[in-house]
Amino acid sequence: MTLEKRTLNLLPEALEILEDGFKSLPQISHSIDLDAIREVLNEVALRMQDNYPYHHPYYIGQMLKPPHPIARLAYTLSLWINPNNHALDGGRASSAMEKEAVAEIAKMFGWETFLGHLCGGGTMANLEALWISRCLRPGQKILASQQAHYTHSRICSVLNIPFESTEVDTNARMDITSLRKALDKGNVGAVVVTIGTTATGSVDPLPEILRLQESYGFRIHADAAYGGYFILADNLGAQTRAIYDVMSQVDSIVVDPHKHGLQPYGCGCVIFRDPSVGTFYKHDSPYTYFSSSELHLGEISLECSRPGSSAVALWATQRLLPMVRGGAFARDLGDCRMAALRLFNRITTDSRFLTGLRPELDIVVWTIRSESSSESSRLADEVFEMASREDLHLAKANLPMSLFKEVWKDFTWDQDYVTCLRSVLMKSDSLNFLDMIWDILSKTVDKALNLSRQSKGEISSDN
Ligand SMILES: *Cc1c(COP(=O)(O)O)cnc(C)c1O
Repeated sequence: MTLEKRTLNLLPEALEILEDGFKSLPQISHSIDLDAIREVLNEVALRMQDNYPYHHPYYIGQMLKPPHPIARLAYTLSLWINPNNHALDGGRASSAMEKEAVAEIAKMFGWETFLGHLCGGGTMANLEALWISRCLRPGQKILASQQAHYTHSRICSVLNIPFESTEVDTNARMDITSLRKALDKGNVGAVVVTIGTTATGSVDPLPEILRLQESYGFRIHADAAYGGYFILADNLGAQTRAIYDVMSQVDSIVVDPHKHGLQPYGCGCVIFRDPSVGTFYKHDSPYTYFSSSELHLGEISLECSRPGSSAVALWATQRLLPMVRGGAFARDLGDCRMAALRLFNRITTDSRFLTGLRPELDIVVWTIRSESSSESSRLADEVFEMASREDLHLAKANLPMSLFKEVWKDFTWDQDYVTCLRSVLMKSDSLNFLDMIWDILSKTVDKALNLSRQSKGEISSDN
C-alpha cells in the first residue's frame, strides 16, 4: 500500500492565506537547516515503520482509525500559529471554532443549550463529568456496569467517590435487576450508562434506566466515548436505536472525536445538559484572562493549556462532513456496522467458531469452538498470533462465563472466562476488505486447529 500524500499539496496555498493575516509585521529570519531536519525526519520515518498498520483495513484490532485528511491538514496548518485554547488570549479563532464544533456535537444529541468543551480524551472528559457529579451529590456513590470502561473506577478512586459496579446481562449490557438492587441500598448519586462498551460495543438500556431514575432520582452520565457518533447511523437495531433516541435526557455525555470522529489523538469532549454546572469550575486566576469579558474556555474546563489545533481540526472535519443523518459521515458509520454484521454472520454460520453477542455497533467478539473455555482461549491466543504474521491484526478480550454459559451448550467452563478474538471494524474500507479479511482468518484458524490436532496425536503431522 501507499500512503495518501496528494492532499499535502494543498498546504502551501492555505499557508499563504494564513500568512496574509500577519503581513503588516516586519519579516523574521527563518534560519532552517533543511539538511539536518531532513536527516532527523527520515530517521523518524524509519522508526515509525515499527507499528501495526493502524491505517489499513487489515488492522481490525483495537479502536484505531486514521484521522481524515482534512483533520490532518487543518491541525498541521494551525501549528504554524500553535494556538492555546486555555484562554482567548491564546487562541481567539480556535476558541471560537471549539465553541462552534462542540455546539454541533451537542446538537447531534439534541441539545441546543448546554455547557461543554474539548479535552485530552475520554478519560479526562469522564473525569470532569464524574467530578461535577460529586460536586452536586457529595458523598454519594457512582454505579457503572462491569463492562463499563475501567477508567470509571479509577477516576472514582482519584476523586475519592465511592464506586460500585453492577452486573451485565447476556448481551453485556447493564443488568436492570442488578442495578435496581444496587439502587435499593441507597446513596447513589449517579449511574454511568455506557453507550457502546469498549470490549463489545454493547449499549446499556437507557430507557429502562430513565424509568428507574423517576423513582430513585440519580444523575445519569452517558459514556459514549466510543459509541456516541452512532446516533447518526441509519442501520442500528431497533432496540439500540431506541436507546440513542432518548440520549438527550441524560445529564452529561462524553464522546471521543479521536475515536470515531476522524480526529488525531488528544480530542475528547464532555457536555452537560445544565449550563449552570459551570459555576463549579470557578476560579480566580490572577494572570490569564485579560483580553475580553467573553467566555474563556479555560473557565469551564479543568485542563488549562489545551491544543487549539484539536479544535481547528475538528471544526474543519465537521465543516467538510456535517454530522447529519444520511450524510457521508453518517453513511461511513453505517458501513462500519454493516461490516461488523457481515463478519458476525459468517462467524455464526461457521462451525469452527463460537459467538453469542450480536454486534450492536461495529465490534465483533467470538472464539474458536472447542470443548472447554481453557482450550478455546488457547486457540484464540494462537489464532491472534498466527493471523498477525499474515498481516491480519485482531484484538483479544477476556469475557466472563456469564455472557455465554446459557448459549454455548456442551461447553465445559474449566475457567470462568474465555479469551475471545475481538474486531473493531471502524475503517471506511472495512466493508470492501471483508472477503480478504475472512480469507486470512479462515486459513489461519484451519492451521491452528490442525496444529492442535497434531499435538494431541489425532492426526499425523504430514496430514
Ligand atoms: C476509549 C474509552 C474511554 C477512554 O477514553 P480515552 O480517550 O482513551 O481516554 C472511556 N470510555 C469508553 C467507553 C471508551 O471506549
